[in-house]
Amino acid sequence: MFCKIISGEIPSAKVYEDEYSFAFLDINPINPGHTLLVPKRHFANLYETSDETLKELTPIIKKLAIAVKKAVSADGINIGMNNDPAAGQLVFHAHFHIIPRHLEDGFRHWRGKRAYKDGEMSHVAEKIKASL
Ligand code: 5GP
Repeated sequence: MFCKIISGEIPSAKVYEDEYSFAFLDINPINPGHTLLVPKRHFANLYETSDETLKELTPIIKKLAIAVKKAVSADGINIGMNNDPAAGQLVFHAHFHIIPRHLEDGFRHWRGKRAYKDGEMSHVAEKIKASL
């Protein structure tokens, strides 16, 4: 569906475009200025996105974060990416959320929990290292 936004078939409030990427305002924002940055090539999620594309997009995330913060006088910026339905992904075209935040805007971070039993943390770290 974001392919149709990139092509202009579905209208959007575009804020940035280059050879690799396209950015527009989220239709259902956390706060005004909430921007989505998408690669023009269709990748379903982060895992599938090419390293070349990620290299092109990363400086644009920074550029947009600074511009959005200034434009809406935000107190802070969250960068987010949801991958898979379990993580809240609704649109299966990889995208980064650039979310302006204001002190007292009512949104909360998720809370961490004591999830590790004794010795489990190092075991999980070893499993991740073995998976790299
Ligand atoms: P996800 O949960 O997949 O990370 O987030 C998808 C985001 O895309 C949501 O925040 C949603 O509001 C936004 N979105 C979905 N459809 C459209 C659309 O047609 N236009 C725009 N501008 N944003 C959309």
